[in-house]
Amino acid sequence: MQSGTILVINCGSSSIKFALVNAQQGDFALSGLAERLGSAEAVLHWQLDGQKHDLAIAGADHRAALAHLLPLVQQVAGNQLVGIGHRVVHGGEHFTAASRIDAATLAAIRATAPLAPLHNPANLQGIEAALGLFPELPQVAVFDTAFHQTLPEHAYRYALPEVLYREHGVRRYGFHGTSHRYVSVRAAELSGLPVSNSCWLSAHLGNGCSTCAIVDGQSRDTSMGLTPLEGLAMGTRSGDVDANLFGHLSRTLGWSLEKIEQMLNQHSGLLGLSGLSNDMRSLEQASAQGHAGASLAIEVFCYRLAKSLAAMSCALPRLDGLIFTGGIGENSALVRSKTVAHLTLLNLQLEPTANAACVRGQSGPIELPGHPRVLVIATNEERQIALDTLATIQLVTDVN
Ligand code: ADP
Repeated sequence: MQSGTILVINCGSSSIKFALVNAQQGDFALSGLAERLGSAEAVLHWQLDGQKHDLAIAGADHRAALAHLLPLVQQVAGNQLVGIGHRVVHGGEHFTAASRIDAATLAAIRATAPLAPLHNPANLQGIEAALGLFPELPQVAVFDTAFHQTLPEHAYRYALPEVLYREHGVRRYGFHGTSHRYVSVRAAELSGLPVSNSCWLSAHLGNGCSTCAIVDGQSRDTSMGLTPLEGLAMGTRSGDVDANLFGHLSRTLGWSLEKIEQMLNQHSGLLGLSGLSNDMRSLEQASAQGHAGASLAIEVFCYRLAKSLAAMSCALPRLDGLIFTGGIGENSALVRSKTVAHLTLLNLQLEPTANAACVRGQSGPIELPGHPRVLVIATNEERQIALDTLATIQLVTDVN
């Protein structure tokens, strides 16, 4: 494995998450978040050697925030910093793996922006700011979609007129690829199986949620589609609905396209069902106190998740295990047990004490002995982005 430290950057429209990742060390020496960028409340939070720090950076944009970060990065990494890895949400069909950033890569990311109008322009802002501030460092784009470019055509095509695919790229792409890939490799390691001969169902359950079927280290199907709205019920996203809902709401309520999209992306999912919160921890507390909406939201979430996992099993020749990850997957024993209770046809069953013990970063197997593996695995997208960045830099160096 390559050595050296990578600065991992994940840019949103008004935020930058960052981490300094060393491939040989488990913990990040420096990590943090710049948020509310472009506003008077802009602030930089970072954690260095276990200590938390904050700095008001009123009015700072992405470039100004990275400029504030620069001395910290230099202080911590010094001459160990060998590159920068950028999370990019959508790589379309162009990117099947991480890519060294050059003019052609930038143009291809820009060309993909219509598929991810909220995310890719924000990712590009971060890349351009970092190129300006760290001109001498190799930089790499790591795509959420790339892992899913191995889906067979019968899994990635919609049953729509072919011209929409051929001329407009309307197909299923899938997201969370970095996380599904990381946890499936960890699952194989933890189980003593070669990645190249292992079959997994993976459930990444954060604010966004998706499932994935992984065979021999390759994604074979996943629940998100053209955009991250398809599939599971999520924090504020509806997941699958009848596509005729658009026409129905337009005709009966006179709602605009924008209003319907906003409702489906920002006011639905756990938040819409519960009328209370998009946060699973809050919903579990409210449900325990008798809040009917919170209980319903949890039931719908788990049933739909189980249904999606059962559907994903069609892509597997056998099942070596089910993986739970993401904030909900890593912490909610309730969601895991309710979901697995719907999957008795896959012979899945949990051991309650082991299930209850896997919270706050505690990983491990939680199945009842004699049943297929169920693993809780803490995801680490920053680490996977750093590993992909190192591998890409190494590859380019070798070729040159
Ligand atoms: P993001 O997708 O933004 O990275 P996370 O992976 O951090 O999100 O997941 C956030 C979700 O994890 C929230 O719904 C949160 O309530 C849930 N979560 C975190 N800890 C717990 C817990 N102890 N019990 C239940 N849900 C939890």
